[in-house]
Order: sequence, then C-alpha cells, then structure tokens
Amino acid sequence: MKKSSLYLITLVLFTSCTFSDDTSPKNSPMETTVITTADGIRSTNYLDYREIKLLRAETVTDETIDFLNEYVEFSEKKLFSDPRLKFENIYPIIIAQLDRNNYQAAIDLETEYCDYLENNHEYTFEISKCNPDNQFEDWAKKEDGSLGILTEDGRPMGSAINATKREGKCCYLFVSESHDEPMPSIGYVTIHEMFHIFQNSNLIDLSDDRNALDNIAGKRRGDDGKKYPFWKEGPAVYYSYLWYAREINDFDYFKNEMRSVLFSCYCGDGQAPIIDRYLNGPKLYDVTWESDADVGYQVGAWFVAYLNNINGEEPLFDFWINTQTGILFEDNFFEIYGKDYRTYVDEFEDFIRNNDEETIMSILPTS
Ligand SMILES: [Zn+2]
Repeated sequence: MKKSSLYLITLVLFTSCTFSDDTSPKNSPMETTVITTADGIRSTNYLDYREIKLLRAETVTDETIDFLNEYVEFSEKKLFSDPRLKFENIYPIIIAQLDRNNYQAAIDLETEYCDYLENNHEYTFEISKCNPDNQFEDWAKKEDGSLGILTEDGRPMGSAINATKREGKCCYLFVSESHDEPMPSIGYVTIHEMFHIFQNSNLIDLSDDRNALDNIAGKRRGDDGKKYPFWKEGPAVYYSYLWYAREINDFDYFKNEMRSVLFSCYCGDGQAPIIDRYLNGPKLYDVTWESDADVGYQVGAWFVAYLNNINGEEPLFDFWINTQTGILFEDNFFEIYGKDYRTYVDEFEDFIRNNDEETIMSILPTS
C-alpha cells in the first residue's frame, strides 16, 4: 500500500476520566489517528501507522543502534501483522537507547526526551515528570539533575516499557539498556519489550483505570491489591527466546536458555534453582514481584511452553486479541483454553514436579 493513497485523520476526543495520580487534569485530550485507504477502508497494515522516534545516548555505538533497529523491525513484523489488532494503539513508540556504562548520558537523554515531548506532544509533557511544575515529592529532580525517566538509583535504567500510550498520553517509552557486544541480549530483550506493546495495544483504550486494565491482562485479580507477573511476563520471556533462536537459526540457544531459567538459579548470588523455589513456594498464579519475580517470569515462560505444547501457539495470541472486548483474565483464559487457569497451572505444576529434566525439556519445540 502506498503512503500517498492514505488519508490521515486525527480526531481529538475529550473524555471524562478518573485518574489514579492526581497530577493529571480531569479531562485529557485523547489523540486517535484513523488511517484509511483511498477507498475509505481502515488500513490493517502496521506500516501505515508506524511512528517511531529513536533517542540515542551520546556514547552508544552504531552497532548497538543497528542491532536495536533490526530487532525492532523483526518484532513489529512478528507482532503487528495480525489484521485483528487495534493499530491505532500501537504507535507512537519512543525508544531511548541508553549506554549502560554512561550515567551522565542517560541524564542528558532525559533532557532530550523532555524537549521532544514539549515540542511534539504538549499534553503528555504537561502531565509528565518533564514538566517542572510536577517536579516535587516523588517526582522531584535529583541533585545530579536526573528525573527518574531513564535513570534509577544513580544509574541508567534497565530495559522496560516505562510509559504507555493511555489516559491521553501520546506514546510508549521503550527504554533500551545497552549490552556488551556482540550483544545477543539486546535482540531478545527488544522482542520482550515489544511483546508488551503488543499486549497493551489491545486494551489500553478500554479504561482510564490502570487496575481495571491489569484485571483484563491477568496482572491483577479482583481487588486484592497484588500484582502477578506470570501471565503478562511469561509469554514475553518465552517468545523473546523462541523467536530470537529461530531468527539466528540456533535452537541450542533456545534450549539452553529455557533449561537454565528453570534448572539453574538464574542469578549471581547462589540462590536455589528456580525450579526448587517454584515447587517450594506459592502457586505460580500467586507469585508476585515481591515474593520471587524470577519465578513469575521464568516459570511463567515454562507455563507458556506447556500450554503451547498442548494447544499450539495460536491460542495465546487469540487470548490477547480477545482482551479487546474487555473480558476479564479468568473468563478469557477459560474461553480460550477451555479450562480454569488454576486447574491448568496445577496440572502444569504436577508435570514439572513428577518428571525428570529430559522429559520436561521434551515439551519444547524443536524448530
Ligand atoms: Zn517484561
């Protein structure tokens, strides 16, 4: 589809919202871009919506940027090609590529990020940490000049989606940590973070209440006030390893990663292997970031491997598309997999508990 045949309509809607943080004004403009072809049909090609702004810390190498770009494009192709997606919710994405060894460059890049918002997305600037009027209490500027947007605890932030296009905010902010060359990790970490954009794009417009969105995404259940990583992080971890291995044509890489995230401690501080922490700890669906985040992430990835081995890969993507209806996690899981999520997780746990390493490894795909 040629760009020239497209019409771009930007609608500014005013919605009445309830905000969880009180720095946000009551009414926020929500930018919705509808892209149609010359025939008036809504485009389902993500390239027509694509809007990525790359911000680069001063000392980042060209190789890092090339590698980042390669895996951003790869992730977009893998994740954004489904015509059922809400393409209006995927972009803009602002990527901040940091140098993990250069803290000052991360502080400088915060200034660049804020200038970019101020010049291009004024409303988002106004309600963000960038706005000097908001820089007090938790959002106060540190003595070293850092704002906590691309920095944390006196160092550059680790990779994360640190802002989401919701509540009238313009953009996702994908913070990308640099890695040591030849840096395969920047490849799979990029897939991981882009996976979160895929997940979020299906539901961010459904509510202004973050908790309500988390209840749909399976990160939260009811109103117990806890956050559970397994269902949102598990697939991001699993597909980051699987797709990266497929892309580099090295399935040993995938097997080695999946083996080590379960059978080693996946740490540098001599804790028990993940599998022991899991089998002696809470149920996977009760693991929180505080109780043992690594178990939530890594065993979550193994739960995806288990589901996919039985059901194939498609249902997981159908689950996320189905979140577009606002269906709660519990009901959505039941609709897609035909079983209560607790029952499925318990069966998975029995499988992990009662089989040897070789049998557990045998459920992984081989190509
Ligand atoms: Zn994640």
